[in-house]
Amino acid sequence: MHQLFSALLFILCFSVLNTSNLHAQQTHLVDFLKIEASLNPNSKAKTIKGRFVATFKVLKNTDSIFMDAANIKITDVLTKDFKITSAEKKVWFLGNFNAGEIYTAQFYYEMQPKQALYFFDDEIWTQGQGKYTSHWLPSLDDVNDKIEFDLQFVAPKNKTVISNGVLTDFTQLHQENVWRFNMEKPMSSYLAAFAIGDYAAKILSSNSGVPIKLYYKPKDSLKVETTYRYSKQIFDFLETEIGVSYPWQNYKQVPVRDFLYAGMENTTATIFSEAFLVDSIGFYDRNYINVNAHELAHQWFGNLVTAKSSEHHWLQEGFATYYALLAEKDVFGSDYYYWQLLQSAEQLKARSDEGKGESLLNAKASSLTFYQKGAWALHILREKVGDKPFKIAVKNYLEKYQFKTVTTEDFLNEVKKVSTVTISDFKQNWLQQSAFQSEDAYQSLLKSEFIKKYFEIAALRATPISVKKQQLKTALTFPNDFIGQEAIFQLIDEPFSETIPLYKVAFASNNLYVRQAIALSMQTIPIELYNEFESLLNDASYVTLEAALYQLWSQFPQKRAEFLERTKGIEGFQNKNIRQLWLALAIITEGYNISEKKAYLAELRAYTSRNYSFEIREKAFNYLSELQLWNAETLQNLAEATTHPAWRFSKYSKTLLKNLVQEKKYRSALEQITAQLSSKALKNLNSLLKQ
Ligand SMILES: [Zn+2]
Repeated sequence: MHQLFSALLFILCFSVLNTSNLHAQQTHLVDFLKIEASLNPNSKAKTIKGRFVATFKVLKNTDSIFMDAANIKITDVLTKDFKITSAEKKVWFLGNFNAGEIYTAQFYYEMQPKQALYFFDDEIWTQGQGKYTSHWLPSLDDVNDKIEFDLQFVAPKNKTVISNGVLTDFTQLHQENVWRFNMEKPMSSYLAAFAIGDYAAKILSSNSGVPIKLYYKPKDSLKVETTYRYSKQIFDFLETEIGVSYPWQNYKQVPVRDFLYAGMENTTATIFSEAFLVDSIGFYDRNYINVNAHELAHQWFGNLVTAKSSEHHWLQEGFATYYALLAEKDVFGSDYYYWQLLQSAEQLKARSDEGKGESLLNAKASSLTFYQKGAWALHILREKVGDKPFKIAVKNYLEKYQFKTVTTEDFLNEVKKVSTVTISDFKQNWLQQSAFQSEDAYQSLLKSEFIKKYFEIAALRATPISVKKQQLKTALTFPNDFIGQEAIFQLIDEPFSETIPLYKVAFASNNLYVRQAIALSMQTIPIELYNEFESLLNDASYVTLEAALYQLWSQFPQKRAEFLERTKGIEGFQNKNIRQLWLALAIITEGYNISEKKAYLAELRAYTSRNYSFEIREKAFNYLSELQLWNAETLQNLAEATTHPAWRFSKYSKTLLKNLVQEKKYRSALEQITAQLSSKALKNLNSLLKQ
């Protein structure tokens, strides 16, 4: 159902925290209390200048204290009591520091971030986890010292700034505005963040009175309701379910272009990929709900209590995944909840059966382990100890360790205190053991009547069609979304003489997901089903529409112009999947709108430029490659795309460029554009040309 999107869902936030033991040692010497900074990012120069003040309490007499700061240039020092200097990706404070005393360090600095702060023509955003906030703000790469961050930004007059905490002051200068934010509570440095862009906001309030601001770009105003649907319900649900009030002053969410992950739970200010923006049709194919709930859950699990080191990372990702699933259960119901558990159980079992299972306490485990196995562990633990003790343990754990860092033992100890059942076998089987406990998982799944019915139909996969026809017909008559899809997938390789009546029943069910399964799986459209298949073009699903348009266009050449007329002007998802398919088909359909062909080609080629997000560009590159429609401009765009910060996209672009370099005509075309390339793109191209 969410096939196209599953890849994205897997990269929720960032999977592994790099906590260096070297850094941890300093927590015995010093406790950083507060960082105040006035920051002035420059989009053109891709630099950031700041006035910086750190307040810290010395715990043990020492002559040197450091903060992390990559490639920092200190331009002026205001502090007189001790020396401030930079070396080895650090700022050093050198002097006689006495235990128990509080000091402040003040200086001006300039940085040119290579990561963690990303500049686009009309938008700036940060990503601290896995990339280190210390690339744009002196801070601590180690999570174990939590600091209060009060950040202030100088930004162009026409831009909006979003950062951690409450906007307490807004001053209009001659050319720019100053935005001052205030945090009241401390957090780990990787959660400091900001975004600057063209944003408007819709404002809500939770039942408990927490202000919730949902940001969007004015051009996306028609997608606001659908993208953020259920936001208030999710917030209220999580506050009640977790049993601890939302710990921060407010909550904001902002979609940005070209984001590196699905979303990032910066304290009070989640940044997420604008690929999740959907309209009322796209909502049913893929939506923001899971990521919305996941990042919000991190405000407790990750931000309020933070894993001390990587082997406890599941305390963040496992909990966020589990609570997001509970929130989705609240919205979509119990069948959906069990279906998601089944999906992840199948992936975990497959990995485990290959001998690639991982312990949840393995610091280098994959996202699948930290996220999905972590969620499964909590599901099993809750079944084992019971709802009430589970909820009390979670509440006590959060309250006891709030604004601190935690270990797995800290959590288990709270469970032991309130549970009458022993959990040592749980710890062994679900946390330490590398193999996935598929039998336990299977028994748990069978508690769902829906899963039992699904297993009954899935068990028919090897049964001859003649024998199971009646059962499949029943499953398709008033189908469940998931069971109906399973029934359709069992028809794929069977002869139409047997399956046409079943397909007729399936089409007539009017179930969006069952009809989508037909669109995605039927390779040849029999003439007896032509009318039904053609009606898929009217379904409220961009996944269905994309597949159906392509199949119809391919199999009925005489009707191509008609299909194109019917689907003209439809954009589809944020990546313009329908529009780009349509352009590609319109360009190659003989005799169709001949006078417009040049414009269609120009539009498709334009989508490869940096004016568009990488999801749009990747699709456009795909079509240009399929249809061999490259020109100098699009080749240049491809070479530049190899330098993009989103590694999946830059990797995709490099692979495509590598293939082109091997063809003689493109090789010489590429050699001719080298003068127009940025130095980074030129370096990438040259290394391919030399191979
Ligand atoms: Zn996460």
